[in-house]
Amino acid sequence: MSVDPNTPVLRNCIRLPLPEDELIEVTAKAKDYAIMHGAAMRSKSNFSEDSLNFAPFVLVPSSFPRKEFEKAVALQPIINRLMHNVAHDEEFITTTLAETIKVDEFTANLFNIYRKVLAHGFTQRTSLGMLRSDLMLESGCPELSPKALLWRGEADEDGQATAAAAVAVAAGTGSGGGVGVGVCGGKPRAKAKTMEEEEDEAAVKRNVQLSRATVSGVSTSTVASKDRKAAAYCCWKQVEINTIASGFGHLGPASKTVQSFVLRELGHADKLPNMPHNNALAGLCDGMVKAWDIYAKPQSVILFIIEDVSYNICDQRFHEFYIRETYPHIKVLRRTLTDVHREGKLGLNKELLLSGGLEVAVIYFRAGYEPGHYHSQDEWDARYLMETSLAIKCPSIQYHLAGTKKVQQALAQPAVLERFINDPEEMKAVGKIFTGLYSLDDNEAGNASYEMALRTPEKFVLKPQREGGGNNVYGVDIPDALKRMSRVERSAWILMDLIHPPLTKGYMVRPGAEMPPTIVDMVSELGIFGVVIGDADHIIHNYQAGHMLRTKLSTANEGGVAAGLGALDSPYLIDSDDEDEN
Ligand code: ADP
Ligand code: MG
Repeated sequence: MSVDPNTPVLRNCIRLPLPEDELIEVTAKAKDYAIMHGAAMRSKSNFSEDSLNFAPFVLVPSSFPRKEFEKAVALQPIINRLMHNVAHDEEFITTTLAETIKVDEFTANLFNIYRKVLAHGFTQRTSLGMLRSDLMLESGCPELSPKALLWRGEADEDGQATAAAAVAVAAGTGSGGGVGVGVCGGKPRAKAKTMEEEEDEAAVKRNVQLSRATVSGVSTSTVASKDRKAAAYCCWKQVEINTIASGFGHLGPASKTVQSFVLRELGHADKLPNMPHNNALAGLCDGMVKAWDIYAKPQSVILFIIEDVSYNICDQRFHEFYIRETYPHIKVLRRTLTDVHREGKLGLNKELLLSGGLEVAVIYFRAGYEPGHYHSQDEWDARYLMETSLAIKCPSIQYHLAGTKKVQQALAQPAVLERFINDPEEMKAVGKIFTGLYSLDDNEAGNASYEMALRTPEKFVLKPQREGGGNNVYGVDIPDALKRMSRVERSAWILMDLIHPPLTKGYMVRPGAEMPPTIVDMVSELGIFGVVIGDADHIIHNYQAGHMLRTKLSTANEGGVAAGLGALDSPYLIDSDDEDEN
């Protein structure tokens, strides 16, 4: 993916580059520290069950605007409730996926299970949702804080920012509020500006012309105004919401551990308070245990459904170890879908029983979200068996379907959102997190989206109903992909506006890569975890449960860490009135 040269750069946590000898020493230590604290994975190229590699990581935490982080955290329980309501709206799920299941076999198979379960009635009415809402900052947002950003646009001899960068910032309009969790709109809006906004803009214009700075040896312009009031830095947009196998409950907090160590080693312990506490592992595992409590049978176990080979093993075993250490009376088992087909059966009250008569209270799916996990009808039968059982599922089939891209696209329409959120302030706040999402169904609206994608493909990403990375089509590749599909086939996909996150600069450390690492341009994706437990009538538990940050090269389309493209990271929170490091 090409990167616009005017993309703003977020101010660094510490001054870079590091002196080479210090960089070599701290990187070598950090690699060992990562392996020894479970920031690790099994190697794909040299797989062995007996060894681990450190997971790729960013050496120093990437900056993230504090206000936007806090908004995302505050919004999560509302998103949890939204997804819970969506999952329990049979009519909405059925109509929304109607066209998709005609052409997408995988979604159709999931939907078939849903249909059968609906026909027979739910044996277990309670669901365990362990969600992760993924988001990116949008640098096209009109509210960029002048102090948090540097422009990589070429500076003229006076060190002034390019006109384009100045205009991009100065053109901003105001943000929405709403239950303290509002995020600003992605595009300038027509509404009248408040006096405060006018003042802010004037300050931006003045300051863009006044100051300069040097970052990583590149002279760029920056803005520094002591008198400017704190403002939102930048809005963020949801990339997707995950309702199945939301990973990094361990690797999120583990990234913070590694980067805290690095900052201390570099003599920057003073920076640690700006790395937010991350309780993801405990939050998610406690969710499973709360579900186990609801099931209320002392001998019952928690079952993890796993892939045939688990590369991302730390992010599963640490969950298991946390449960075993914190709640030693609860046993955790790991089985593949194939194993469940072989040994699983239902008891008299539809309890899920594994060999030896072990009764399963809670099923945590870390597999089952992609076609490759179902080798034959056996695995689908196993999924159905579990779905009809008394065990509490994470996710239950309706939650899985609620997490499809097609549902996300439908929810982005205000009229649809209204169906699930009553409070107008909450509606407003959630409505703003969606970037443009377009149906490609075979109807007038879908055909208009198709034409739009052919005209300006560089603005979009094309997504199928898949999870796990590597399935999307980006920018200039979209027209060919679309033209290969029939009109009906297109309805299995959705079209989404590309989000343009600001850049950060830093060192990415990868197994087997050359030492020392060099400074690269990167972009980050923040994931906020949420836990929600309840049935169609009641929500029993609903809370935000920590976060994770993944960072990729700015030129990469996707940033899956397990897929080898992204790197572990954690947010370093910055405020609009911070002093510049550089
Ligand atoms: P998956 O379910 O495969 O994880 P995602 O929707 O999360 O699918 O897309 C995978 C990756 O593609 C994201 O992690 C992100 O890096 C990139 N991506 C997805 N949507 C967008 C978007 N609208 N703008 C920019 N990048 C995106
Ligand atoms: Mg994703």
